[in-house]
This record gives sequence, C-alpha cells and structure tokens, in this order.
Amino acid sequence: MKTWRELEDIQPKVMKMIENSLNKGRVSHAYLFEGGRGTGKKDVSFQMAKSLFCTNRDGAKPCSTCSNCRRIESQNHPDVHFISPEGQSIKKEQIQYLQAEFQRTGVESRKKLYIIEHVNKMTPNAANSLLKFLEEPHADTYAILLTEQVHQLLDTIVSRCQVLSFQPLTPQVLVDTLVEHSVSPSTAQLLSHLTNSLEEALQLNEDEWFGLAGKLVIKLNETLVTRPEQALFFIQEQWISHFKDKEQYEKGLHLLLLLYRDLVQLQADNEQTIAFIGYREQLKKQALQTTQRKSVQRLEAVLKAKQKLSSNMNPQLLIEELVLELQEG
Ligand SMILES: [Zn+2]
Repeated sequence: MKTWRELEDIQPKVMKMIENSLNKGRVSHAYLFEGGRGTGKKDVSFQMAKSLFCTNRDGAKPCSTCSNCRRIESQNHPDVHFISPEGQSIKKEQIQYLQAEFQRTGVESRKKLYIIEHVNKMTPNAANSLLKFLEEPHADTYAILLTEQVHQLLDTIVSRCQVLSFQPLTPQVLVDTLVEHSVSPSTAQLLSHLTNSLEEALQLNEDEWFGLAGKLVIKLNETLVTRPEQALFFIQEQWISHFKDKEQYEKGLHLLLLLYRDLVQLQADNEQTIAFIGYREQLKKQALQTTQRKSVQRLEAVLKAKQKLSSNMNPQLLIEELVLELQEG
C-alpha cells in the first residue's frame, strides 16, 4: 500500500482536498473516488480511513502504527468494512449485510466507515439498497465509493457523494509503477508512450502478440534502412501473418509512428523523451545517416496511413503502399 507521502506525488489535488477536510473537521459522509485503474483510489481510501480512526494523528496524516491504523491496513477493523464484487457483481445481500452491521452501534467506536470498490458493478437491487443507505446518513457513518466507470452509476448515487476525480498517471509515474510491477524499464518506457492507463499497459506487457509486433516494427525499419528493396517481401513474409485486423494494424502503425518520432527527437538532440530506449543506439546511428526533413516526411507518411486506416482502407494494401513510400526516402 502506498504511503500518504507517495500518494501526494501521484494525486496532489485529491490529497490536498482530503487533508483540508480532515484538518477542518469537515469530512463528507459519502465520497466517490473516480478515475482509472492504478491511480491510487484504493490506497487513498485506506489512508483516509486510517486518518478517520487514528488515535495519534499528525495533522491530517495517520500515524500508521496505532492499533486502529494497523487493523485498518490489514482489513481487520470491526468498524471499517471493505466490500468488493463477489464474482461479477456486488449483490444486494452484500449491501444488506453492511446495513445490518451498521444498525448495531459501532463495536468499538461510534464511528463507522465502509469502502465499496468497483461500485459500478452493483446489481440494480444492490444499487437501490445503497441509495437508501446514502439517503439516510447516520451522524458517524462514512462511505467511500470507488469506481473506474463513473458514467455507469445512477445519477442519484453520484449526486449524494462528494466526487473526487483521480488524474491519469503522468508518463513518469506510469513508468515507475510499471517497473514496480516487474516490467523492464525499456518496455515500461515504450508502454508509457502508448497509454496512460496502468491496466492497459500491464495487459500489453503480458500480450505476446504485442511483444512480437514491437519486434516486427523494428525489423521493418531495419529492412528499410539496410535492404529497402526487400521491404515489400518482408511485409508479405512476416508482417501480414502477424497483423490481421484493423485494430492490430492501428497498434503496428502507432509503434512505427513512435519509432520515426524517436528518430526526429534524436536528430533534434532530444534523447530524454524517446520511446524505443532499448533500440536507442541503432536509432542514433540511423539519425546520423538521414536528414531531419526525411524523418519528418516518413513520420507524416505513417500519420497519413493511420488516417486512411480509420477511413476503412484495406489494411494490407495500405501497409504495402506505405512501405513503397518509405522505401523512396
Ligand atoms: Zn494511527
């Protein structure tokens, strides 16, 4: 679990708002944390829970060592309930259980808190039960609802909560988080150029198809540089059997676009932001052998191909046409 301090780096606005509410004693009875996976919603909800129950708080920050803090962290506190989908959904019984628990007075303190993860996955019955619960707030009852899909929630639920929007991860935070998830630094860097969603980045990292797609894009570039007359043959022999539908072509063209963008960046002496770090040395050599104008032309050719792809041009025809254009450079 991320510390308060780490969360301040990832979600400065959210943490500031929570800190102010805690310091001023103006904590809302219901919060809705919305934002993509990996943006820290669950960690923030637990830090906030600890702050609400901590017996040794420093300003708004929980001590993390008192018995309340430790029991919340290990999900063992009798007055703090954490609910997540059982199977595909959150069921009415789960909300009813919560209500029953809360009707009794707090076991240890009078204060009670529940956190519901993936709250958009409630069945309609569960959503109605929760709505009733939110409509009749008890003085010392707090709710934190977490979701990646705020538009799937009933407006009546959203309107009863203070909504805190979690920002997408910055490329650097995404890279660091991916490396924490055992992704190699060079792959993490490439993925951070393709998405700002941790979930999508982790999926791509596990995806064998994607791994090979990246290698084929590099190989296509090498063929174009060293044996341009073989490039069409390469497309027919290796590319077409791997890239099958429009979506896959989109990914392939996106990777090729990043590669030419790297080349332009290297020619402008801007090494910091390149995507293909693992391929940097070869790209540097290539950058010296061609002009910036030509690299930009190639970049534009790939962009144009991407547009044609979205207007439903046959992908195979499209890549062949593109390769002919890149050959000329
Ligand atoms: Zn504490």
